[in-house]
Amino acid sequence: MSKLKDKIVNHAKTEYNSSPHRFDDAQIQLIIEHDCECDHCGKSIFELDDFPDVSVERKEVLCEECYDEEYRTTCPICEESWEIDEMTDYFFISKTNSKEVGKSPGIYKVLKRPFYYGNCLTGFDAFFDDAIQKVSDIDIEKAYSILHPRLNKENITLDCMCPHCAEKYLRKDNFIRADSLYCILQEKQRNQIFADYSDERIHRLRQDMIHRRITFRGLLQLHNK
Ligand SMILES: [Zn+2]
Ligand SMILES: [Zn+2]
Repeated sequence: MSKLKDKIVNHAKTEYNSSPHRFDDAQIQLIIEHDCECDHCGKSIFELDDFPDVSVERKEVLCEECYDEEYRTTCPICEESWEIDEMTDYFFISKTNSKEVGKSPGIYKVLKRPFYYGNCLTGFDAFFDDAIQKVSDIDIEKAYSILHPRLNKENITLDCMCPHCAEKYLRKDNFIRADSLYCILQEKQRNQIFADYSDERIHRLRQDMIHRRITFRGLLQLHNK
């Protein structure tokens, strides 16, 4: 028993990608009870690239991949990986999937779950009455193409977005902080492409773009008041 314990302790100290790692005694006990294997895929904890997630509370030993599959999800907007419990209750309906789901494009808040029904063939049938509420008219495809001119965002799923995206797309004040880039006014461009523009002209141009709602900030100001 204690030989195996030493082996686990030493392995965690040096052999994982993010070593040194330390399991506490209860975790080591659990690992031993679970035959030093991932509960889902059965891989030995001594063959993993990184240390397993050992939850004494849930009595679970999971390798990184199985943990991700079980407890993590990807934000449909920024595509970052998040813990499922960290996700917000807000999701986008894009212009593309608006017709299909019978709701106008915008950001919706989930008021109660489940908020839609469907079956395994169609995936989605319809939203439950009163389960969702629209909170913004912002068009995600337009917003996304302004923020990422070179990327194409297609097939946005109805999955809820992460806290970072919710903060970004639901901003109701301090619009100036919405976008870290000045639209056409990055310093490099200012000094090259727009070198012959006066500061005054640049200022007016920026105002005009905000006014015409063709910047991200403009979109937020238009839709999130
Ligand atoms: Zn596994
Ligand atoms: Zn996100």
